[in-house]
Amino acid sequence: EEDVALLEGEAELDAAGNPVTSLPVVAIVGRPNVGKSTLVNRVLGRREAVVQDEPGVTRDRVSYPAEWNGVPFMVIDTGGWEIDARGIARHVAQQAEVAVEMADVIVFVVDATVGATDADEDVVKLLRRSGKPVVLVANKVDDVHVEGEAAALWSMGLGQPFAVSALHGKGSGDLLDEILANFPEDPHSEAGRVVGGPRRVALLGRPNVGKSSLLNRLAGSERVVVDNVAGTTRDPVDEYIELGGRTWMFVDTAGIRRRVHQTRGVDFYASLRTQSALEKAEVAVVLIDAGEEIAEQDIRVVQQVIDSGRALVIAYNKWDLTDEERRHFLEREIERELVQVPWAPRVNISASTGRHVEKLVPALETALESWDARIPTGKLNAFLGEIVAANPHPVRSGKQPRILFATQASTRPPKFVVFASGFLEHSYRRFLERQLRERFGFEGSPIEISVRVRE
Ligand code: GDP
Ligand code: GDP
Repeated sequence: EEDVALLEGEAELDAAGNPVTSLPVVAIVGRPNVGKSTLVNRVLGRREAVVQDEPGVTRDRVSYPAEWNGVPFMVIDTGGWEIDARGIARHVAQQAEVAVEMADVIVFVVDATVGATDADEDVVKLLRRSGKPVVLVANKVDDVHVEGEAAALWSMGLGQPFAVSALHGKGSGDLLDEILANFPEDPHSEAGRVVGGPRRVALLGRPNVGKSSLLNRLAGSERVVVDNVAGTTRDPVDEYIELGGRTWMFVDTAGIRRRVHQTRGVDFYASLRTQSALEKAEVAVVLIDAGEEIAEQDIRVVQQVIDSGRALVIAYNKWDLTDEERRHFLEREIERELVQVPWAPRVNISASTGRHVEKLVPALETALESWDARIPTGKLNAFLGEIVAANPHPVRSGKQPRILFATQASTRPPKFVVFASGFLEHSYRRFLERQLRERFGFEGSPIEISVRVRE
């Protein structure tokens, strides 16, 4: 389809074919019929992108890649989010709330020929509180007679109203200039990453699991990039290693190389080092000694990775030391001790012999892909609609919380916000997480679901 072809041409896509939005996000908000879809089409420069939907129908795709003066960005059309249309005011407030979650700039559209309504005023309060930049559009200013009405929208307290005729294209250039002027300085530096720069890996694990041996193996077999890696400040504690055709940054390796041995407080220093490496990293490889019983400390390191929200790969090292019996017990220990991370990719390696060390890179790539992944709002809600219909929340004290709407608020790791009509039980949230993973994967990445209760 045309829509898809265009996406492929202009936006970075993940494995599932969804746009990966490290781009600035612009959300268009406003009451029905003020001209949001017409404006989106105008911004996108073509008419066929946004089809007019029947009310109540959720569009499959709600975000579109766009560009102005060579600057790429994503446009989110909230017009398609008609999941729960009980009352327009409520619906618009909901849209606005989601827009605040997701967008870098919010475009608030008012029909100048109608003026601001009470529903608009409520949304204005919400938008002002959010602290996000808001650009006010006075639409349907087709000719000079309406300009007075447009100017009257100054009273909304959102700054200058941009008089536009989405239908005829009038004023859209100035509007786009204003939108771009409000983009964040560096939208690409999410979690501190320079786009296109090396991905940052932390090698973690308790003393003697083989971190230093693995680092030497990785660095020894490949060319070590010494300096001038684009877009990075070189830190002597980090090492750049080329693996699988790309450069990786192994963070905080000084501590691994130096092999510091404290007699007291080993655990404390180890967990401090783990913490500081995690802060700099995007993905962690936790090494576990396959030859020994899984220890308390192994589990703690894994938990630290989950808590940090970083992607995770588990490497069972010293595989050369395992026999059949040990491998049998190891599987039982994994089932028992590492139940919280069935999603982490696993490699069985030997740093000393080099066994399967090459499998580390594909595992890292999978984990990072999941960590970066974004599920389009339409797709997410269509999926939630299905599973909630099949497995509704249990009735408690005569009440049954309903899920109204969900959106992925951010990536790295994927975080979801679910809007519900009442409190969702812990077990039901876990159920939702399992279902999300079953459907969308997220192999190698923690995911987070938060619930907003409305009313
Ligand atoms: P949405 O519900 O906010 O997405 O609004 P639409 O984009 O579907 O527009 C609602 C109606 O307003 C349609 O009939 C549009 O043709 C019309 N419309 C949109 N923009 C303008 C405009 O600038 N001038 C005029 N006169 N009509 C417009
Ligand atoms: P670190 O403290 O985590 O950096 O661990 P080291 O890399 O210093 O390894 C600790 C000890 O385990 C050293 O004696 C290594 O030679 C040994 N070792 C590391 N990896 C392997 C492996 O895959 N197999 C075997 N047999 N020994 C290993």
